[in-house]
Amino acid sequence: MQANQPRPVRLAEVEQRIEQACLKAGRKRDEVVLLGVSKTRSVDEIRTLYGAGLTRFGENYVAEAIEKLDRLTDLKPQWHFIGPVQSNKTRILAERFDWVQSIDRAKIIRRLGEQRSPEQNALNVLIQVNIDHEDQKSGCDPEQVDRLTEAIAGQPTLCLRGLMAIPSANQAPFSTRQAFARLRALYEHLQGRHCAVDTLSMGMSGDLEDAIAEGSTMVRIGTSLFGPQVD
Ligand SMILES: *Cc1c(COP(=O)(O)O)cnc(C)c1O
Repeated sequence: MQANQPRPVRLAEVEQRIEQACLKAGRKRDEVVLLGVSKTRSVDEIRTLYGAGLTRFGENYVAEAIEKLDRLTDLKPQWHFIGPVQSNKTRILAERFDWVQSIDRAKIIRRLGEQRSPEQNALNVLIQVNIDHEDQKSGCDPEQVDRLTEAIAGQPTLCLRGLMAIPSANQAPFSTRQAFARLRALYEHLQGRHCAVDTLSMGMSGDLEDAIAEGSTMVRIGTSLFGPQVD
């Protein structure tokens, strides 16, 4: 076995970190969902983790994702799209994914809404927020969340479940944890007005503890589950 094959032991370690973080934050373990981020990982690596009990996977690149989905049709994981969405790729996302976490503009909402078949379950969507106001970064500005929320509400084939963000790596003097706290405040505002909103997707391998302390309900973990990326 190669050094970088995912081992169920890595899954157990991540589970333990989540459990510890929940304990420390006074939260229940079942309030936090684990999403395995499988971009650049092989179908065999995904199979190994699925076999060990991980049932939700996130992909970033459309062509790579579809190739893997096609090769894993015998498994029934929940598929999340978490990469930047190009408007000419929305149809395949609408047809094949269960969730799209990286919604940041009205045009994408309109296209996904029209292209999701009413015969399928509603497509679960999260609005991705550029919580640090970084230039050149995916995600809408926090001020745009309300407007995008309304656009989603106008699409019966979409279901707004919450917010997602990728805070910038420590932008002194602000910490990642402060960015998580700002996202949480936006999320609570949203939750008060939309009953299906139950998902705050924040936290990755390096910061899942801070994210859980600030109320994350979904952590997206790549490196700690699959090992370091090999170029
Ligand atoms: C790659 C990626 C992750 C996982 O990052 P790790 O640090 O490897 O855990 C999470 N979310 C998004 C959007 C990603 O692109």
